[in-house]
Amino acid sequence: MGSTLEALGDVRGRRVLVRSDLNVPLDGQRITDDGRVRASVPTIKELSDAGARVVVTAHLGRPKGEPEARYSLAPVAKRLGELLGRDVAFASDTVGPSAHETVESLQDGDVSVVENVRFNPGETSKDDAERGAFADQLAALVGPSGCFVSDGFGVVHRKQASVYDVALRLPHAMGQLVATEMEVLRKLTVDPERPYVVVLGGSKVSDKLGVIDNLLGKADRLLIGGGMVFTFLAAQGHEVGRSLLEADQLDIVRGYLDRAAESGVAIVLPTDIVVDTAFPSDDREPQPRVVPADQIPADSLGLDIGPESARAFAADITDARTVFWNGPMGVFETAAFAEGTRAVAQALTEVDGLSVVGGGDSAAAVRQLGFDEAAFGHISTGGGASLELLEGKELPGITVLEH
Ligand code: ADP
Ligand code: MG
Repeated sequence: MGSTLEALGDVRGRRVLVRSDLNVPLDGQRITDDGRVRASVPTIKELSDAGARVVVTAHLGRPKGEPEARYSLAPVAKRLGELLGRDVAFASDTVGPSAHETVESLQDGDVSVVENVRFNPGETSKDDAERGAFADQLAALVGPSGCFVSDGFGVVHRKQASVYDVALRLPHAMGQLVATEMEVLRKLTVDPERPYVVVLGGSKVSDKLGVIDNLLGKADRLLIGGGMVFTFLAAQGHEVGRSLLEADQLDIVRGYLDRAAESGVAIVLPTDIVVDTAFPSDDREPQPRVVPADQIPADSLGLDIGPESARAFAADITDARTVFWNGPMGVFETAAFAEGTRAVAQALTEVDGLSVVGGGDSAAAVRQLGFDEAAFGHISTGGGASLELLEGKELPGITVLEH
């Protein structure tokens, strides 16, 4: 597929509003993982090289509809400039005087970033009129000859002003990142090569249970790790101690286990778990202990899949021709609980076929553990968006571009 930028015609001299996903993890002013900024560069560069006057919009974190210094995009704009190798102008508001002054001073090929769109309540409002009013202001930044490029794959599942409503107001196109993501992820939903194995982990348990529903009819094997495991183990009647548990999901999970048994899809759970008596923290040395998955002590919590499970998961993964992995197998941020995640990541690099990593933390884990990104078939920048696509849901930010 590739980008659809040609549809916009000649962009030289025109202002182009680009929605990117620049939602990176920050430690104060320091970007701890710039993967999403790097992924945004090709489309911005393509537009700049074509002589467009680029106005990038993005969000960072979860501010509550008003400015909050710790969620400023200023450090991200700086990093974008370093990666582009050119000055990037930064507006200290989103649609206010600074933004107007900034976009009006752009020359052909210049790039600017305006402040966090979520500093405005209209961005995420459920009210169409309120969102629309903010989208009008965003569209006004690029003027009558302006257009919109949607390139923030991490947000295309959101019906938000800078993602959805602006596309109703401006000539629009898909950027390279969104186009590539959609192309790869559709391979997972349309006739994947088999065996097709899906690995799910992480901490957003109820967010991720929904995808299992759809995958029970599609994947051959579902390997479950991370925080989600404990709801499954509890559903089977096992003690999970103080592990992450979503008690209100137990019936749903029991339903999945029954359906899997009937449909011949294997749901593979870990047989051993790495536990500790406390969640990792700076002021305590971890005391990891491996226990059978059905014997988690009441005073402990599960923080990684055990070594036996890691080997079994790796074997299932390397046998597959198509693999989608979302969510770390454990609290990989602490070395003592990173081995399950490492084993899964390593196995994905050995797949003879298509291997896809989805999810912000999963992608960060891959980089933090020192893997070469090129060893994976594709690393998706959008966790939620990729999961919703696999769930079979419509993505509003994509649908709106197809009009
Ligand atoms: P992604 O961003 O890849 O979609 P999530 O955001 O769902 O993944 O989850 C990532 C987080 O899950 C990591 O910070 C990791 O520490 C945490 N995690 C993994 N396993 C567990 C566990 N057993 N208990 C608590 N947290 C966990
Ligand atoms: Mg995450």
